[in-house]
Amino acid sequence: MSVGNAYTHFVPVRLSRSAAGWGDNDFVAVGGIFGINPGAGRFYGFFGAASADYGYRCGVGARTGTFKEYFHRRREKEEKMAMTCGKCAHMGLGFYSDTIGPVEYLEGKTSADIWIVGLNPKHDIGHVEQRTPAEFAAFDPDCHPYFWDFRKVSPALYANWKGPNSRIAHTDLVKCFSPSFPAVVLVNGSPTEVDSKQVVTNCSTHLLEQIRRFRPKVIICNGAPVCYTVMGFFPPNNEAQTNRATSYKYELDLGNGSKHSLWLVFSGFIGRIDNWNRRRLGVEIEDILASEGIELHSGTSSYS
Ligand SMILES: [Zn+2]
Repeated sequence: MSVGNAYTHFVPVRLSRSAAGWGDNDFVAVGGIFGINPGAGRFYGFFGAASADYGYRCGVGARTGTFKEYFHRRREKEEKMAMTCGKCAHMGLGFYSDTIGPVEYLEGKTSADIWIVGLNPKHDIGHVEQRTPAEFAAFDPDCHPYFWDFRKVSPALYANWKGPNSRIAHTDLVKCFSPSFPAVVLVNGSPTEVDSKQVVTNCSTHLLEQIRRFRPKVIICNGAPVCYTVMGFFPPNNEAQTNRATSYKYELDLGNGSKHSLWLVFSGFIGRIDNWNRRRLGVEIEDILASEGIELHSGTSSYS
């Protein structure tokens, strides 16, 4: 990663702050946010470009020397993030973490049978994922309203999700962080939507690797873009499925003669469909789980 690339990373961050209602000169306000959430101090590139004073004030860490030296040190730090993905870096996007790689980006246990797949992680561009693998495994769906909608889909599923024997995990089709999708970055000074097809093509290699490695039995695709992409990877094998199915079973060839069967369930974005359709989806999922002998226990006793 060149110094030039390190520079492009902070430009979209600055843009997204502006989009959130702060002008380009409102650095004090932004600094206040950083004070509230020290974890977000990882946007040090933003402060580095704004003012050294604010960098110190927000506890970002001692920054001495020229900007060039600063970016050089930042580049060295980024290179130490061995598992960071830079596939979308040329578009100003990325997956940054000191703790996990994009293939480990699975909220829940890697042994989970049921995966919910959303579009992309909603964070500012430049966000550095801080959670450890243990924190990912202990994921609590109560943490965000996005997941609450699944209470209306299937109370049994949600109760299991909340419990110690959760068989449910969540990940995203795209791993690059951005507050919107398609992400908006600055190109020659103009806010520009990135090519979402290219981002999906780059990033979805991680989802495919996750599926091959951890082998979920049921994948629930949340929203049309996820549905169309996953359907493209695992195409239905007859016309009835192509035209009408909201779910079907797919035989994934793992190579060396071994196969893995997984159910694919397709839904409009669960946050926007009405409660009747949420429950319709939930009944469909529960039928699939029953047919596969996947039981959703809640509470403290372990399932066998
Ligand atoms: Zn990407």
